[in-house]
Amino acid sequence: MIKYKLICKNCQDSFDSWFASSKEYEKLIKKKLLNCNYCGSKNVIKTLMAPKLMNKYSKMDEMKKIKFNEVEKKIKEYQKFVKENFKFVGKNFAYEARSIHYNKKKNEKGIYGTATKDEVMELKEEGISAEMIPWVKNESN
Ligand SMILES: [Zn+2]
Repeated sequence: MIKYKLICKNCQDSFDSWFASSKEYEKLIKKKLLNCNYCGSKNVIKTLMAPKLMNKYSKMDEMKKIKFNEVEKKIKEYQKFVKENFKFVGKNFAYEARSIHYNKKKNEKGIYGTATKDEVMELKEEGISAEMIPWVKNESN
């Protein structure tokens, strides 16, 4: 048995119909033995699998969205931790990181801020540990 979604070109209604096989469907449609459940018109066609596919895709999008929301939540938690425990130095990050490193400042809070990829690379070359973390922009930064 095979289920097809048929659409009536006359009244635009769609309905499901069962056939023994796709061949049986072809036979019935050729002989004009299929008619609309609603208006009785013989002008019915099998819909493509598109609606099913679209469902699948929208489900995938939904899952991606959920995944992204989870990740975003994690990042935001991390951001909160960083904000509470580190000092924000904005664009002076590379400068501040060096000053902590070379002045051997102790008991200094860790810092966070913005730096370019090159700046982070340079810091690493100088033996200063700096990590790039994903950051979700929000109203407060
Ligand atoms: Zn109809």
